Amino acid sequence: MKLSQFFFKSRKDIPSDAALISHKLMIKASMIKQITAGIYTWLPLGLKIIKKIENIIRKVHDKYGCQELLMPTIQPSSLWKKSERYNDYGPEMLKFHDRNKKELLYGPTNEELITEVFKEYINSYKDLPKNLYQIQWKFRDEIRPRFGVMRCREFLMKDNYSFDLTKKDAENTYNNMFKCYLEIFNNIGLKVIPVKADPGAIGGDLSHEFHLISQSGDNTILYDKKLGDINKLDYKNSFDLLRNIYSVTEDEYNKKKDLDLTKLVKTKGIEIGHIFYFGTKYSEKLNASVLNNKGKKVYVEMGSYGIGVSRLVAAVIESSHDDNGIIWPKNISPFHVGLINLNMKNVNLNKTCKKIYDFLIKNKVDVLYDDTKQTPGEKFSTMDLIGLPSQIILGENSFKNNYFEIKNRKNNNTIKCKINNLKKILEVI
Ligand code: ATP
Ligand code: MG
Repeated sequence: MKLSQFFFKSRKDIPSDAALISHKLMIKASMIKQITAGIYTWLPLGLKIIKKIENIIRKVHDKYGCQELLMPTIQPSSLWKKSERYNDYGPEMLKFHDRNKKELLYGPTNEELITEVFKEYINSYKDLPKNLYQIQWKFRDEIRPRFGVMRCREFLMKDNYSFDLTKKDAENTYNNMFKCYLEIFNNIGLKVIPVKADPGAIGGDLSHEFHLISQSGDNTILYDKKLGDINKLDYKNSFDLLRNIYSVTEDEYNKKKDLDLTKLVKTKGIEIGHIFYFGTKYSEKLNASVLNNKGKKVYVEMGSYGIGVSRLVAAVIESSHDDNGIIWPKNISPFHVGLINLNMKNVNLNKTCKKIYDFLIKNKVDVLYDDTKQTPGEKFSTMDLIGLPSQIILGENSFKNNYFEIKNRKNNNTIKCKINNLKKILEVI
């Protein structure tokens, strides 16, 4: 992609209510545009990151035996009356009427709807377990939408729902999803803390939130000091440790105060995921049952699992930025690499940049080429703001000496690379 053609403009008019650095940077880098309170357009740069996150989520869910489907955003209110959750959600749920005066709502979550779908198709224990997921927009009429896409009203969520025959099977599924979440966040490049949480309006008796530690987080969490430095944790092999160590939300802690504060780390966190086991709460109300191997009707055991996909974009920025802008983890970076031509007037420099650009495309490297007429200073700050992990920089001085530079965005280290040895780029980036 050539920057001169890309839908991008570094913005300086940051609204005064943008308190979080992630909110400021997302506006500055034209990733999002607010339409009205808590409702945003995702511009091409922002959407690219959403897609990258979605792909990681899909890959890991598929690996864990989940199957994707897509439910509508609009649901009939009648379904929520059947589950007796219509009143629990209160004013957070957006309701409206169609032309036939039937009351509809914009789904804040989908336990009811998926149960309705499930029960039409699955009637026997032989067809269990099942685990279905979707990545779909949700609406919650938050009383105080704030912090950009961190707490907005319309947001993108990955939600999945599991159906098992027995409580034991359902608990296994729950643990599997716990592992699945650790793998997803690890693949994105995030260190998370799972904490025991209150299930809230979803209900049930087993629930964990997944938090990204950040001073800008809305929640307070507490965990056992024994966990040590989480940046050193090997997430691939830490399931047992993270599943069993004492870690809780502040609300949970206050219920029992069962561990001395001196033994705990108390910190702020951003909730990026939440998982629930709630047994037969919805299957009983909505009559979702199967016949077991003795021909007896049993209600299915259910769990639900959510990840705030759009919130994650802001959360990653909160945990990975510097004074100059965003620093994307490699796996979700909107482009693999930036290419900066410091003097578009130099014909030979242009030719070489074009050659590098073509070489990268041929090698399936997603490149953002700054071919604009901006000054070198402006080009450097634009590329730093966008935050790609590495930048290939061609200026006249180095060009005269037959090399160019590759800069690492995170640590500013630069490597010199000979113009006749483009293959080296593939090793460095
Ligand atoms: P919160 O406590 O932050 O309001 P929640 O507990 O109500 O979130 P869940 O019902 O657990 O949210 O939804 C699953 C995930 O969806 C959350 O972990 C979070 O990442 C995301 N999410 C929830 N509400 C919002 C929102 N208003 N804006 C953006 N993402 C959200
Ligand atoms: Mg939650």
